[in-house]
Amino acid sequence: MIDSTSSFDRAALIVAHDEANAFDAVVPPIVQTSLFTFSSYEEMEQTYLGAKVRPAYTRGLNPTVRHFETMLAQLEQAEDAMGFASGMAAISSTVMALVQPGDRIVCVRHVYPDAYRLFQNLLKRYGVTVTYVDIRDEEAVAAALPGAKLLYLESPTSWMMHVGDLAALAALAKKHGIVSVIDNSWATPIFQRPLTYGIDLVVHSASKYISGHSDVVAGVVAGSKELIARIKANTYPYLGGKLSPFDAWLLIRGLRTLPYRMKAHEEAGLSVARRLAAHPQVTAVHHPGLGNTLPASLSGTSSLFSFELKEGVNIPRFVNHLRLFKLGVSWGGHESLVVPSQVARAQNAGPNSAIDFEVPPSNVRLHVGLEGSDALWSDLTQAIAAAS
Ligand SMILES: *Cc1c(COP(=O)(O)O)cnc(C)c1O
Repeated sequence: MIDSTSSFDRAALIVAHDEANAFDAVVPPIVQTSLFTFSSYEEMEQTYLGAKVRPAYTRGLNPTVRHFETMLAQLEQAEDAMGFASGMAAISSTVMALVQPGDRIVCVRHVYPDAYRLFQNLLKRYGVTVTYVDIRDEEAVAAALPGAKLLYLESPTSWMMHVGDLAALAALAKKHGIVSVIDNSWATPIFQRPLTYGIDLVVHSASKYISGHSDVVAGVVAGSKELIARIKANTYPYLGGKLSPFDAWLLIRGLRTLPYRMKAHEEAGLSVARRLAAHPQVTAVHHPGLGNTLPASLSGTSSLFSFELKEGVNIPRFVNHLRLFKLGVSWGGHESLVVPSQVARAQNAGPNSAIDFEVPPSNVRLHVGLEGSDALWSDLTQAIAAAS
C-alpha cells in the first residue's frame, strides 16, 4: 500500500527525469541532488547492469546536466556530448582518454596557455610528447602527422587568431588514422561547426560565450557516440570533473540567447576592430573578420581579438585610462575586457613558459562586450590619446 506522500515523492522524481512532463515548467528544473534512490532490488540491479538507463548518482548521470548536453550536441550536430566542471576538465579528460605513454600529439601553436601547460607539464611526465605546428601551414601539419595519435586544434588560435582550413586538416588526420580535436570556444557552434568539416571532437570552455553571463565555469565535449563513450570509459568518472546541475541550468539559460548574443558581439567586435585598423597609433589588428571574405569554416566572428599599438604608446597608461573596458581575463559575457600581452608574458616567464607565445609586447587583447560599440570606441580613443 503506497500512501499519498510517498507516491507524490516518486512522481516528483519521475517528472524531474522527464522534461516533457516537468510540471509543465518552461524552464527545465534544477535536479540538485547527488543521488537517486531505487524502488526495488530489481530496479537497482537492472540499472547497475545497464539494462535500464536512469540516474543513480549525479557524477554519472543527472537530468539537468543531460538536458544541457543534449542541447549542445544538437547545436554542434554531434551524436552526443558530455558536460564538465570546466573547459580544462573537458580538455584534459578528452585528451587523456585518447593518448597513452609513447604517443605523440600534434598541436597548433598559440594554443590556450593552460592546454599548453597540460601538455608540457603533465602529459610529458606520462611519456606523451607534443609537436607544435603553425595551423596556417598545411605542409608542416602534414609533415608532423605521420605516427602521431592526436591532432589538437584551435581555430582561430588564442591571441594571434590564426585560422586553419578545417576540412583540409580533418582530411589529413583521417588519412593517418589520427583523432582530431578542436577547441571551439571562440566561434561557438553559432559561427563554426567543426564536426561538419570532418573534425572528430569539439571541446568548449562553456565559461565563455556559451554561458554568456560571466557567472559559470564549465566545459563540454561533443562528437560521435563512440568517442564520447571512450572518454566516459577511460577518464571521465576517475578524473571526476562533472558539470554541476545548477551550472548546467545556467548554461541552458545561456544557450537560449546564444544566437542573438553572438550576432550582437559580432557586430560590435567588427565595428571596433575596423576602426582600430584605421587608427594611426595602431599597427596591426588580429581579427579573422577583417579580410574581404571570411575563412571557409566560419560563418561569422565573435568579439575576442588582439591588436598592436605603435611603439611609444604607453600600454600601462592606455589600460589604466580605459573606463568601459575592464582589466580582466576570460571573455564571452556582457562586459568588455582588456588584457595586455605584457602581463600574460610575465605570468608565463620561466621554464614552464606557455610562450611559445610569440605575441609581441605591444599586443593587447580585447573582448568587445554588449555596452554599445560607439561608447566603447570613445573609451578606446581617449585612452590611446592619453597614453600617446
Ligand atoms: C578559457 C578557455 C579554456 C579553459 O576553460 P575553463 O572553463 O576556464 O577551464 C580553454 N580554451 C579556451 C580557448 C579558453 O578561452
